[in-house]
Parts: sequence; structure tokens; C-alpha cells
Amino acid sequence: DDTVVRRAVNSSVIYMADLESSIHYSLRVEVARFTVLHGDRLRSLINYISVLKKYFPARPYLRSLLDYLYAWLNKQRAKLVPYKDFADAVNGKNLEENAVLTPHADFVWCQGSKPEFRGFPCSVWTLYHLLTVRAAQLGTEQTKEVLRTMRGYVRSFFGCTGCAHHFEQMAKESMNSVRSLDEAIRWLWFSHNRVNKRLAGDATEDPDFPKIQWPPKELCADCQKMVGNNLTWDEPAVLRFMKTHFSENNLSYDYLE
Ligand code: FAD
Repeated sequence: DDTVVRRAVNSSVIYMADLESSIHYSLRVEVARFTVLHGDRLRSLINYISVLKKYFPARPYLRSLLDYLYAWLNKQRAKLVPYKDFADAVNGKNLEENAVLTPHADFVWCQGSKPEFRGFPCSVWTLYHLLTVRAAQLGTEQTKEVLRTMRGYVRSFFGCTGCAHHFEQMAKESMNSVRSLDEAIRWLWFSHNRVNKRLAGDATEDPDFPKIQWPPKELCADCQKMVGNNLTWDEPAVLRFMKTHFSENNLSYDYLE
């Protein structure tokens, strides 16, 4: 049965349910495909937990868990980490305090019209856009930290290997030219639109959520402008919009348990 219960969703907010579902799915499903973590893959995982700890606006129980996982993983550096040990840590086993990551994926904005559409990949984009914006708002010397972490995650764990290959090509081409935290936001927005263009009309496209050059006018009237007869982006307006759209103030806590 592939019927999906559709919920009322609002395209102008970011749902915490999508972000937490993304973290759950990455740590309990994608990372779980490797029985032992070591080397580059372990480093990708540590970097992922590290950027979540630094920049993800987690609710208190998840904040406790991210702090704990970061400390736990740092003690395992340069070792072989059996996934089942990591899974115990993710599940807060041996922890006195309440440290909890939702035990299932429940997508809201990212829910597709059928189970094969959208879901986790949608939440990955959403999570990393949010992290690039949070890094710019909180500040750090490492301008490419979030992008490099995403690149490492996708290369090490992203289940869609064709996607990972395409993303690695884009990263190789242009990620190194990023010079500021704002440019990191811009790079991910721009690269996501390149992917949208390539996939428009593809069999993987959810007919209810066509691939568009984003943001549409309804979300940001100022973001597009006419130069002569061509419609182009007003990039300063896009950056302002990204910083508002993916900000902590624009999070919705609807549909969380
Ligand atoms: P998504 O493209 O997943 O976008 C999620 C939401 O982000 C949108 O609904 C919109 O609200 C917002 N958004 C859209 N564009 C932008 C933007 N430019 N900037 C900021 N926010 C935006 N699928 C393939 O078939 N082939 C591939 O090669 C491929 N490569 C991928 C690489 C990566 C790194 C990722 C994370 C996914 C990839 N996918 C690929 C999956 C594909 O990009 C979509 O995630 C998937 O088809 C679901 O689409 P969606 O309609 O939910 O929108």
C-alpha cells in the first residue's frame, strides 16, 4: 500500500521534524551500512557530528546527545569503531541523563506524494543549507567547514552513489573557490539549483513537487530581476533570503512528537 497521508504544510518554513528525521536516518540507516568505521569514513562521521554540535539548533535532549556523541567519538579516533558500539552511543545506552534522537523518520515538508519520492535526500539538502546559514550567523574562521563536511558525508555514506558522484564532480570543480561564509551559503544554493535543472522532468521527480529554480517568486519576490530580456538572480537579495529562510526563527516545531 503506497498511499501517503498528506498533511497541511507550509513551504515558507523549515520543519524541525525534517531535520531531526534526517539526523536519525543518517546515523541509524546510512552509517549502519558499514559494520566497522575507520579511516576517512570515521573522519567524515566525526566531522558530521562536530558541525551538528556547533551549528545545529537542537532541542535540549538532542543537544545533550550530540555533545555526548562528539566526546565519545573523539575517544575512538584512530581506532576501528564497530557500528554496533556507535549505535549504542546513538541510543544513549549507559547514559544517565535524557539524551534522545527521534527513533523514526517522519518527514513533513519533505514527505513525497509516494514513498519513493523526496524524503531523506530532500532533508539532506535542507539540513546543510541550514548549517551553512548558521555557520555564517555564528561565525567561524573555517569558511568551508560545513561544505567540506557535507562533501565528506556524501562521499562516505550517501546511499545514492550516482548522486554522490555528481556532487563530488561539482565540489571538485568549484568548492575550493569559496572564500567566505556567505560564499559557502551561495555555493550550496547555486549547486542545488544546478542539480534541480539537471533533474527537472526526470523519473525521480515527484509530480506534486516539480524541480524549479529556487526560490520561486512566491517565496522571494526580490530574488529575481530582469536584465534586458533575461531573468536573472539578484544575488544579494538571494543571500538575504537564504539567511532568513534557513534561520532559527523560521523553524516550525509542528508535527513533532
Ligand atoms: P530537493 O531538491 O531535495 O530540495 C528540497 C527542498 O529544498 C525543496 O523542496 C525546496 O524547498 C528547497 N530548495 C530547492 N532548491 C533549493 C536551492 N537551490 N537552495 C536552497 N533550497 C532549495 N537525485 C538524482 O536523481 N540524481 C542526482 O545526481 C542527485 N544528486 C544529489 C546530490 C545530493 C548531494 C543530494 C542531497 C541529493 C541528490 N539527488 C539526486 C536527490 C535530489 O536532488 C532531490 O533531493 C530529490 O529528488 C528530492 O527532491 P525534492 O523535490 O524533495 O527537492
